[in-house]
Amino acid sequence: MDGSGKMRGICPSCGATAHSEKCPKCGYRLRKGNLPLNQIVFSELNGVKGISIENQLFLVVDHDGKCWRFKLLDTMLNRQLTAWIVCRSPSDLKTSRAALMLRNRLKERYSNALETLETLVIIVENYAEEILERKEKAAPKNGQL
Ligand SMILES: [Zn+2]
Repeated sequence: MDGSGKMRGICPSCGATAHSEKCPKCGYRLRKGNLPLNQIVFSELNGVKGISIENQLFLVVDHDGKCWRFKLLDTMLNRQLTAWIVCRSPSDLKTSRAALMLRNRLKERYSNALETLETLVIIVENYAEEILERKEKAAPKNGQL
């Protein structure tokens, strides 16, 4: 049994036989290609804020009061692709060692991984206030009136 490597020609999401960049049946990405940047959108998954990437990947965006926390999920395969990535600013995703696996995951999927990453950072920066505000409302600090 060869359980290693990718099952070429068979969609891991729906099991259909497919040789295209995306599965014609379910749309799952099977091969590296260009990601249209308008498919990267701020979104919510089961009440968790984050960024949806072509409706297949989801970057969970969290802030613990001190640091930013991210993790990448494959929502179609229901898999977690990275552990929590902790950094001080969203732009650390571009350089931090902690985010290396995130960058690798993007690189293996997208020929424009650099632009994809930049767009993720821009979206986090643009929605930062909203993410932080929600946190404060959800967990009021002790000792405040
Ligand atoms: Zn499929």
